[in-house]
Amino acid sequence: MKPIFTLLGLASLLASCTQPLHPELLSDHRHVPQQDVTVEIEKAVGAEGVTASIHFLTVGGFAIEVNGERILTPPFYSNPPLLRNLPFVSIHDNPDEVDKYFPNELKDRNATLDRRIKAIFVGHAHYDHLMDVPYLLEEYLKDATLFGSETAISIVSRKLGMSCSEFQSRGKIVEANTWHTVSDTLKAYAIPSSHAPHIAGHVFQGGTYDCSDTGRIRTAADWRKGQPYAYLFDFQAGGETVFRLYYQDTANDEDMGLIPKDILADRAVDVAIIVMAGSSNAKRHPAALIENVDASFYLVGHWEDFFGRSKDARFPNVSLGTDDLEFYHLLTKKLPDTQGGPRWVLPMPGDSVTVIAQ
Ligand SMILES: [Zn+2]
Ligand SMILES: [Zn+2]
Repeated sequence: MKPIFTLLGLASLLASCTQPLHPELLSDHRHVPQQDVTVEIEKAVGAEGVTASIHFLTVGGFAIEVNGERILTPPFYSNPPLLRNLPFVSIHDNPDEVDKYFPNELKDRNATLDRRIKAIFVGHAHYDHLMDVPYLLEEYLKDATLFGSETAISIVSRKLGMSCSEFQSRGKIVEANTWHTVSDTLKAYAIPSSHAPHIAGHVFQGGTYDCSDTGRIRTAADWRKGQPYAYLFDFQAGGETVFRLYYQDTANDEDMGLIPKDILADRAVDVAIIVMAGSSNAKRHPAALIENVDASFYLVGHWEDFFGRSKDARFPNVSLGTDDLEFYHLLTKKLPDTQGGPRWVLPMPGDSVTVIAQ
């Protein structure tokens, strides 16, 4: 058989392999609530109570709002089929799908000036994190600045027909181990991370770009991973951090993506968003991360299959090659419920988690 047919066969076989969430998860409505939920946590420090609204969009995408400050991590709606990952095959976004599924309330046209999304943070540049960003920036989020690696900024600049310097006012390359000022009330710290291998220790679509690269972004492999980052967001009021949120967009090895001790000593983490996809391929994920971050509450994102799936499905299948039951058992053991309730939830795409810190 010709290699291309073997690859096609393999890809179709893999695509048909995804499973729904295990019944043990689906029947645990405390941790997999399958609706909007409100949770109360004990606030780390500070006099006033704070409410955070965390809306899970899809894949690594969350809309996060604290004290009226809104940021986004990129959702993914285009969902090309797995076959589009084959070498030499072109892959592209699907604006009709973004139009249909990106929530209306997040679009500039439906938000007052102060509530528009001002910043988008991307952890790494694979297409399931970055592909819908150029269209979102141009069509719905004209006030937003994109923060990401040089690889991510290089890709998005090219997709918008610009150089990095022409894109500079809206595309910021983050510096490792550095705080970035987003506004008077938000700063973000970029933490170098690693990417969980896909198969047999190998990460597909690897490599980096810099701003001198000018080639076309055409195939899945052109969406190079770049340096992955996790982020720590400090939402502030009166010069004090009132809410601290950790975000990652890939499972990572035990020694990466960790918050430095001196930053943790300043203030504890209220909420951490952690990734399930590929978790068993990363060393001690998420155990090592939980030991480091020690957040009051956790949300599990990037858990669902995105290869050509219907976004109308209320209960999507689990990401290819991910052992959801193993991850579930690890979390229930590592994060036992407290008297106040569960310490973690896995939201369905489209559901919101309101966190009240008081
Ligand atoms: Zn990736
Ligand atoms: Zn991903």
